[in-house]
Amino acid sequence: MQEPKTPRTPTVPSPEHVDSLATVLDLVRSGAARTRPEISRHSGLGRTVVTQRVNQLTECGLMEEGALGPSSGGRAPRELRFRARAGVILAAELGATSIGVGVTDLSGTVLAEREEAADIALGPDPVLDRVEILFDELLTEIRAEHGDVAVWGIGIGLPGPVEFATGRPSAPPIMPGWDGYPVRDRLTARFGAPVWVDNEVNTMALGELRAGSAKGQRDILYVKIGTGIGAGLVSGGRLHRGSQGCAGDIGHAAVNDEATVVCRCGNTGCLEAYAGGAALARDGLAAAQEGRSEFLAGVLESTGTVTAADISRAAQSGDRTSVELLTRAGRLIGSLLATLVSFYNPALVIIGGGVAAAGDLLLAAVRESVYRRSLPLATRELRIARSTLSDRAGLVGAAFMVIDELFAPERLAHWVAAGSPAGAPELVDVPLRAPLL
Ligand SMILES: [Zn+2]
Repeated sequence: MQEPKTPRTPTVPSPEHVDSLATVLDLVRSGAARTRPEISRHSGLGRTVVTQRVNQLTECGLMEEGALGPSSGGRAPRELRFRARAGVILAAELGATSIGVGVTDLSGTVLAEREEAADIALGPDPVLDRVEILFDELLTEIRAEHGDVAVWGIGIGLPGPVEFATGRPSAPPIMPGWDGYPVRDRLTARFGAPVWVDNEVNTMALGELRAGSAKGQRDILYVKIGTGIGAGLVSGGRLHRGSQGCAGDIGHAAVNDEATVVCRCGNTGCLEAYAGGAALARDGLAAAQEGRSEFLAGVLESTGTVTAADISRAAQSGDRTSVELLTRAGRLIGSLLATLVSFYNPALVIIGGGVAAAGDLLLAAVRESVYRRSLPLATRELRIARSTLSDRAGLVGAAFMVIDELFAPERLAHWVAAGSPAGAPELVDVPLRAPLL
């Protein structure tokens, strides 16, 4: 008969332990080191400590031994591999008019994904019902192919401000019914996994940082120009969320004293009320109705409306009014960005979102304004580039948000000490310091 197991009381790991465990995992995860001697060389940790940490990480299923690695004389050391398939992450990006869902492995590689039209304004119940159904479908698909993988965490991007600490939207202007809704609690209960929720612009910035055009950068600014305008800030390699989680909400910065244009937030003079996709569509419609653009009048007649995408197409075919609208929007965005560039000195500004993807004209106007209005030192090395992940940035970033949280040193040390995962990590609520990068 087996002895009854005495429950293991997790010991509180020392700070050195926390750091060395995370360092060893990060070196193998990033591919910077593949063998124990390489880990030792890169980290400065002694051989005994490296062996202990590797053993712990192997025991809990995060690492495995592979083929023989390169030998520097003597017996070749075994190569170590991060077990990216030890679990999966569910990620969703909810836009104003679409849902994107995906399943990734623990290295952020997308294994399956789905996208469909959806209206965020229907409210949290119908939208999250649909997200849950899509997650279930993808999991069935993945499990048929990869076996019974456990969900280690869930990441959700929403098109509005989110209080990151609680995973609840906070007075989101385009999301009626979502204010204070417990998105995190609902999905945790449904899938039995930890959930993190953030503004989609932050997940987009994170996606670009980990897997897109900002890979390897430390100071970037991601600007989304879609129906609205928002920005995500990465400072020193970390997402800067600010004290309440709404850093980067530049769409409602005042760019004009006129009290004539009222923004959807209720204020007047906001950047997005002049330069966002909805503003472009409004001005394009007026131009069509007032006979200032033959092209847009034709669009209005055949489709019954004018969209921001119509204005981009019109501009590309030489419609002067549309060229002016896009140039004016680009200049307004650019002059605000110039302030941010001076204030914050990023190395890279990435412009994403539907309106930015539609043509070069807007991006050219943004660039011109930023370079003209910023100090030479701030722009000497500055690159302003279009998003390379485009509409996938938010989904990939939502998965990386979860991965970053799971492997934050303190959490990692706790669940490794507690003997999980094998199934999925049991997370304890531990205070986090800044993640090691
Ligand atoms: Zn506003």
